Amino acid sequence: MTVSQPPFEDSPQISPAETPRRRLRDARWALLASAVILTGLVVVYEIPVWVGLLCFTATLAATLSIPRNSASRRLKINAQRRMRRMWPGTDMKVTVDALPTPCFVADARGITRYVNARAMEIYPGAKPGDPLSFSLRAPSLLEAFDRACSNGTAERINWIEKVPTETWLEAYIAPIHEPGPQEGQTSSRKPAFVLVVVQDQTENRRLERMRTDFVANASHELRTPLASLTGFVETLQGPARDDAEARDRFLSIMLDQAGRMRRLIDDILSLSRIELRAHVRPQTSVDLCEIVRHTNDALGPLARDMKMTIRLDLPETPVMISGDRDELIQVTENLVENALKYGSTGEVVDVSLTPKQTGEGETAWELAVRDFGEGIAPEHLPRLTERFYRVDVDSSRAMKGTGLGLAIVKHILTRHRARLDVESAPGKGATFKVIISG
Ligand code: ADP
Repeated sequence: MTVSQPPFEDSPQISPAETPRRRLRDARWALLASAVILTGLVVVYEIPVWVGLLCFTATLAATLSIPRNSASRRLKINAQRRMRRMWPGTDMKVTVDALPTPCFVADARGITRYVNARAMEIYPGAKPGDPLSFSLRAPSLLEAFDRACSNGTAERINWIEKVPTETWLEAYIAPIHEPGPQEGQTSSRKPAFVLVVVQDQTENRRLERMRTDFVANASHELRTPLASLTGFVETLQGPARDDAEARDRFLSIMLDQAGRMRRLIDDILSLSRIELRAHVRPQTSVDLCEIVRHTNDALGPLARDMKMTIRLDLPETPVMISGDRDELIQVTENLVENALKYGSTGEVVDVSLTPKQTGEGETAWELAVRDFGEGIAPEHLPRLTERFYRVDVDSSRAMKGTGLGLAIVKHILTRHRARLDVESAPGKGATFKVIISG
């Protein structure tokens, strides 16, 4: 929807100095009238022609020498001033249009006087001439607007909009005063205009919340094994000091807890290393078939322990893609390890690599890891790649999980411009598919 805006009117010009020619032009009708009247007097009342000529010459001389300061001229200048106070000039509009954020220019009464292109996209109903509150309804913003007008100082406020989705917004409200009589001096009266710049802070807030949640979760995850280690050390120093059987049992639990802490620290470091490189696309050429075979060899012992079989279905020829070998090994290992750990009731894990046509006519490869275990309920699927998200915390801990494996997979795939799809239903196993372009 497009909303018509008043055209850019040029800023009123300062009147050029009055010249004799200009005065003559401005007084042309008065001169013509006096010429007609004098001619009439000469003809009707037989006044001597030279007297008529003398009178006309005097009128002409007066017109040329006396500066004109007519009421109409003053009215015109005042009208120009009023226009300038009501509608922002071209310079202001062009500047506001160049800003990438939604901006409104209102007058001190809160009437919208200009809406920049970006604001038009986001608030299609915004119209110059309408009250600003038609587009920006937040009471805190309107209060800040009134404060900015009466105090003459800029205001910055934040508010949350709940509908249609939760959005965090920030507005900067700056009064614009017309320059005062002296250079740099601003009028102490109400501002001529008020600039309202609105910024969507939702993404920043979300990232901030994610970071604080991550730190809180990571310290919680580390504190649990640490508390257990401290408890066992105290027991071994005190009541179980001479109990050889208890000491052996406790030491083995302590080893487990220390291992859990090490895995957590390894995964946290791994995640932050991948995040650091997130914007650098890998350039090396790697063979996906070789990576899958390497994973199969590395996880052979775990598969045997879990009494499971890994079945490979790979192309005969190498599948070369641009990627980071170590990171892609981490992806395949995490997915196959999860399939072995959480799909053990199915006894088999299928790993296949097949070409796939993308919408853009490019060839991509689909690496699918399928298990036939208990599967995942649909409500968990969208959250699986969140840090520390686990469907069942106890079973994850029992399997030496940290809750970071799939978050690492997602980050590596994002760096490789690849995608992770998960298909699963309770009781029917799970298929994790990596779609990566060749
Ligand atoms: P974890 O270290 O706990 O394995 P992940 O990020 O690798 O963490 O996985 C997150 C959660 O997703 C796991 O705790 C598990 O509940 C679930 N999950 C992952 N893979 C599978 C699978 N193949 N079958 C069933 N559940 C799975």
